[in-house]
Amino acid sequence: MLQNIRVVLVNTSHPGNIGGAARAMKNMGLSRLILVDPLDFPSHEAVSRASGASDILDNAQVVATLEEALVGCRLVLGTSARDRRIPWPLMDPRESATAVCAEASDGAEVALVFGREYAGLTNEELQRCQFHVHIPTAPDFSSLNLAAAVQVLSYEVRMAWLAAQGQPSKVEKFEVTSVRSGQLATADELEHFYGHLQNTLVEIGFLDPEKPRHLMARLRRLFSRSAVNKSEMNILRGILTETQNAARGLVHKRGNKDV
Ligand code: SAH
Repeated sequence: MLQNIRVVLVNTSHPGNIGGAARAMKNMGLSRLILVDPLDFPSHEAVSRASGASDILDNAQVVATLEEALVGCRLVLGTSARDRRIPWPLMDPRESATAVCAEASDGAEVALVFGREYAGLTNEELQRCQFHVHIPTAPDFSSLNLAAAVQVLSYEVRMAWLAAQGQPSKVEKFEVTSVRSGQLATADELEHFYGHLQNTLVEIGFLDPEKPRHLMARLRRLFSRSAVNKSEMNILRGILTETQNAARGLVHKRGNKDV
């Protein structure tokens, strides 16, 4: 599916940017690079900036016109750092990545087109694209380095591709494992903990039973948000026990560590 996606760089002047773009693509699992009339390619500078992604440069296709680069494409997206005079259907990188993945997984060829370092894409080139993609930036400084722009779009394509595969991102994976592990503290364990916490807070003078000020409700809300598991609960209970011991002057030795 990712092999249906081509990255097209138009008239690039700095070979370093071609290398940087190749590296960005390979990091994100994209492999097809098409160069439209590059100023200086092949070049050592491109290989050195590609740093390990020189296979992408070796396989890059060099063509004379944008038209040739887009042959066979069903979806063409043109990236632009600024608003153009003629309004065009516009997407942000995340929306564009969803569209790219939907088309590519349907077997269609898709192109992401990037412009010249100094002048971007011409209006004529942009009008060959069904959609324009703008990376949101600070309004007074909207132009990213070419390879950085390729990185942003390739990253979004990877995220959309992972989501389409049903592969969760790292954070989702973490949440799913901790919730599904069956090791979460149970309601009764939590109640014992809250009881223990309340007694301890009274004992150390932090909670005044005459003026509780919703402290326990707030703490319950805090711990409810954290999906505490059994071993974390044991740590918390241990801390409370030692806090009570310390408050009662019962400092004792455990192992060779002073507690
Ligand atoms: N001075 C040019 C900027 C070119 S930057 C201009 O005003 O258009 C080189 C290329 O990087 C752009 O053609 C585009 O492909 C990409 N790019 C840079 N910043 C971008 C942004 N904010 N959104 C989308 N693409 C961007």
